[in-house]
Amino acid sequence: MPLPIAHSLISAAVFVTYKRGLSIRDDLKGLALFAFAGLFPDIDFITVPFTGFGGHRGVTHSFAFAFVAAAILYMVVSYIRRKKESRLWLFLFIAMAVHPLCDFFTYDYLVERGGVMLFYPFSQSYFESPVSIFMGIELRYLETILSLHTLQAVIREALLSGLVLVAAIYLKTGSLRRVFDARRSDIEES
Ligand SMILES: [Zn+2]
Repeated sequence: MPLPIAHSLISAAVFVTYKRGLSIRDDLKGLALFAFAGLFPDIDFITVPFTGFGGHRGVTHSFAFAFVAAAILYMVVSYIRRKKESRLWLFLFIAMAVHPLCDFFTYDYLVERGGVMLFYPFSQSYFESPVSIFMGIELRYLETILSLHTLQAVIREALLSGLVLVAAIYLKTGSLRRVFDARRSDIEES
């Protein structure tokens, strides 16, 4: 699986395409919300050992789960903000659905059943791309976690997903510096 680095940075890229008048300084809550959405499918990493239900990259790594979980998250956020904006639901769904897609494009060391259960409940098969974008890490053994391979996987993941984020900011705003330096009030005035 990609590490939280890729999931967070790519979710941030989804947030960038969603947000109008983006200002990193003023939008930290929004970024955190999208990072949460993008990481949420890995909740099974925590719940499976306790509940015994399902397996990692199972139900929570399906488009159907992203659909339902994004709807619930959207309702909670709309209630707190006292404001409804259906675009937000769509982009939260994208942030959650991109997670299993990234896992799909990651080499899975769990070769006996690699991949993700993308199409649950229509299919309980695990799908994995024959071509990997992310390297994947063997997480079951300490010696494979603490290895040069892991370091390479982390660097590759950070570079690729960082590039996606930078490209999203640049395509959306035409300027990187302005997004990081400016406050929203400055952006709206100009
Ligand atoms: Zn995952």
